[in-house]
Formats: sequence, structure tokens, C-alpha cells
Amino acid sequence: MRKQIVAGNWKMNCDLSETKNLIQVLKVQDIPSGVSVMIAPTYTNLLAATSLLVDYPITVAAQNMHQSASGAFTGEISAGMLKSVGVDHVILGHSERRAYFKETDALLAEKVSTALEQEMTVIFCFGEELQDRTHGREFDVVKNQLQNGLFHLSGGDWNNIILAYEPVWAIGTGETATPEQAQEMHAFIRRTLAEKYSDEMAQEVSILYGGSVKPNNAAEIFGKEDVDGGLIGGASLDAESFMAIVNAFV
Ligand code: PEP
Repeated sequence: MRKQIVAGNWKMNCDLSETKNLIQVLKVQDIPSGVSVMIAPTYTNLLAATSLLVDYPITVAAQNMHQSASGAFTGEISAGMLKSVGVDHVILGHSERRAYFKETDALLAEKVSTALEQEMTVIFCFGEELQDRTHGREFDVVKNQLQNGLFHLSGGDWNNIILAYEPVWAIGTGETATPEQAQEMHAFIRRTLAEKYSDEMAQEVSILYGGSVKPNNAAEIFGKEDVDGGLIGGASLDAESFMAIVNAFV
């Protein structure tokens, strides 16, 4: 069901004690009813995070996982391993994974299928690069990423998919899409889902915006009709900023 969601992607930040401290500060904050809050610490701190958050309304997500169940994949982590430490949400397709680790749409399609088979929820990231937007091909790029990464799924599978539209030019740059640019793309994404599946299904999918969301711009972006929340990088590492964003829904 379509929900309001704010998810913090902590990337390769926070050692164990920093992770515990940040979670302890988040735990004493009031979470507005109707908003789902998620955090994605690094792998080594997932068990500490889920242990600290038992019975507390903050969901812990992983930042990535491997597409295989097990095997000779040195350095990789499977869905089953994540579930064994209490993690059943995973971010897939982040632009940093696509750019630095050469994750392709085809690989991501496999990872999504594996995650769903393991009854996990996927936060699927996608978005155009700056040159795509300057050449006017942002809609084509986004549609291709959706088609190649997710359109093998059945309508029912989408109960466990959250989309995160993240224009690459806005990630970590301090440059944010305007609320109008975000709304225009989110509405396009919903239309694309409606064409492939159905209007009803498209209305049920949560679509987050990501890219330099901060306390001073979150309310305006989240106020747009087709924006259901945000995936937050830099600002999620500071409890006060993150909670200001969580409280930005009007
Ligand atoms: C991200 O990495 O997903 C992200 C949105 O980062 P930032 O908020 O720092 O732009």
C-alpha cells in the first residue's frame, strides 16, 4: 500500500559505536503517525541496529545484497544472511552501485527477483545522469531502467517494491530537483506503471525522491502529489536533520 516513507542511506559512514549512538538519539524522537522511517547502516552494523530497534518503529534496511543464495562469492552478502540478522528490506540499484560497481539493469533485475523470492522488500533506486537531462532524454532513461529492472515482475510482486527516483546529478551535490521537476518525473513513473500494469496498482506504489533533500526543502518536495517521501543520504547522518525531514510531511 502507498505509504509516506523517509529512508536514511548511511552509505559507508558510521562505525559500530557511531551507529549505536545515532540510533539511540533517533529512538528518543517521536515518529509522526503514518510515516514509515527506515535506516540503512553498513553491513557490519546491521545486527546492532536490528537489536537496538526491536519493537521500535524504525525499519533497518541493507544497502545492497548478492543475487545468489550462497556460494563462492568472496566478500558478498546474501538475502538469507540479511534475514538472519533481522533485516528484510534492501536498497538495490543505488547510483553509486551502478557507477562504481558496474551494476547493470540485468543484474539488478536478478537481485530484485532474489530479494522478492526471499520475501524481502526492495527499495529500488534509479534516475538519470546530468547529461541525460541536458539532452532531454531523462524520461527515456527512467522508463528503460524501470522496464529492464522491474517489468519482469507480476503485479502482486509490487506489494514489496518501493521506488526511489534519484536524479544522479542531485545526489550528494547540494543541487536538488525542483519540487516541480520531482513531481513531473514521479507522475511520469506512475503513468508508466499504469500503462504496464493498471491504474490501481500504480496508485499503490510508494515513490520516494532522493537527491540533496534537506530540512529546508523537504516539505515542499514531499508536498507534491506523487512524491511519497524521500531517500536521504547526507542529511540522514545527523539525527536532528533527519528527524526534521521525517517531520516535513504536511
Ligand atoms: C542518496 O545517496 O541516496 C542520496 C539521496 O544522497 P544525498 O541526500 O546526500 O544527496
